Amino acid sequence: MSKKDYYEILGVDRSASDADIKQAYRKMARTYHPDVCQDVDKKEAEERFKEINEAYGILSDPQKRGAYDQFGHDAFRAGGSDFGGGFGGFGGFSDFGFGGIDDLFNMFFQSGAGGGRASRSQPQRGNDLRTDATLTLEEIVWGVEKELEISSLRTCSMCFGTGASDGASSQTCSNCQGSGQEKIVQNTMFGRFIRSGPCRNCQGEGVVISSPCEECNGLGRVSKKRKVTVKIPPGIDEGSRIRVPGEGDSGTKGGHPGDLYVFINVKPHKVFKRINDDLYCEKNVSFPRAALGGIVSVPTIDGETELEIPHGTQSESLFKIKGQGIPHLRSGKKGDLQVKIIVKVPTKLNSEQKRLLKEYATASGEDLDSLQQEKGIFGKVKDALGI
Ligand SMILES: [Zn+2]
Ligand SMILES: [Zn+2]
Repeated sequence: MSKKDYYEILGVDRSASDADIKQAYRKMARTYHPDVCQDVDKKEAEERFKEINEAYGILSDPQKRGAYDQFGHDAFRAGGSDFGGGFGGFGGFSDFGFGGIDDLFNMFFQSGAGGGRASRSQPQRGNDLRTDATLTLEEIVWGVEKELEISSLRTCSMCFGTGASDGASSQTCSNCQGSGQEKIVQNTMFGRFIRSGPCRNCQGEGVVISSPCEECNGLGRVSKKRKVTVKIPPGIDEGSRIRVPGEGDSGTKGGHPGDLYVFINVKPHKVFKRINDDLYCEKNVSFPRAALGGIVSVPTIDGETELEIPHGTQSESLFKIKGQGIPHLRSGKKGDLQVKIIVKVPTKLNSEQKRLLKEYATASGEDLDSLQQEKGIFGKVKDALGI
């Protein structure tokens, strides 16, 4: 079995089409056919002819060619020239969650046998990116345009994404012979695994550029910080995400750019909490106000409004003011403002206030002194029990 590179034997490029390979094979076969060959030594001609046939046998079969591109001669080593022979003796793949040996082959050879060769040079869509935007509750209510700074890979403006400096040409990668894939051997308790991954020399491109673009080091894209203005609609909720089409990484080889996803965070508000489309706040009122009722002022997101509470309003009573909440994201219909009334007990009283409160108690038929006495007795019981 020849150890020479099959492409070299036939004198074709790694990217040669099936027709190119066939044509090259015919030409070479004519040259080295032992019966027609005149110029070279008969023995050598036979050797070359064998090589040519072997090379053509592999490269004319898309599956074998794919395997060869990925693994070179190793792909056919153990089993002679029979494709896949090198992977014999594997067992127990169900342990890995594979469907079986066929799936494994598909996984290994998917890129080599079909898509991979083509997809390397095909346009690739850029990656999607994620960023966060932290909004105030006011911004949620009114909507806002946010200017966000995004680091993304953008097409290099020096080489227009080709990765090559002016006039430079690209050459087949010597590490992967142009396949863009290299094999990675893993020894595990189940045996030796050979899987393929993108070639590290050419980043899976299959070609290296002789004189890379200085701006992007030949990558065709450069990391850039850019300002992206994102329109945030009123009513959006914490944890929502906004897709900004085309603001992700640029694609390669003319591929579409990815999208930018903006994840929404909301800063806690000093006064309000959000409950769905409603705003919620607490309003402290004095005991006389709660008892007598009347108009109290309550905060809104952009100022204040008035709320009439009935006499005898209990602490923790909840009132709703229509339309002072958050617009619904889709319908735009505003939620309500929920106000919880908290009746506050005064903590500092002057003598006049104390006198009046006692008077109020007396007028209500309450004997504050007897309560004090009761407390006194309770204190004595506590003392007796030693609590
Ligand atoms: Zn460049
Ligand atoms: Zn390579």
